[in-house]
Amino acid sequence: MADAVAAEPCLHLDFDANVTVARIAPDAATAPKAFMAEMTVQCAACKVPFTFPGMPVGMSYDEPRTSPNGQEVRVPMRPADAEPGFGTGLPGFGMTFAGRADT
Ligand SMILES: [Zn+2]
Repeated sequence: MADAVAAEPCLHLDFDANVTVARIAPDAATAPKAFMAEMTVQCAACKVPFTFPGMPVGMSYDEPRTSPNGQEVRVPMRPADAEPGFGTGLPGFGMTFAGRADT
């Protein structure tokens, strides 16, 4: 009978990251009202997704937020030469969960 070999835990040495940039405008010919970067990261070896603790859940054009499972961070962004206040004040949403483990 062969001895059971415990699987070595993954050391998470390399990562796959994906960033999608959303341009908030009715069409490509219209000046955008805002931009949003949506990012996910997973271990390249074991594929476990990473979460982003410490941010509120939802979507906001004024501050970073995460998806309900914490695996996608949504970050408002703007061109460095944009006018002050560009992209702020647009409607978003927030969510709270009673008993969420990582808050
Ligand atoms: Zn891993």
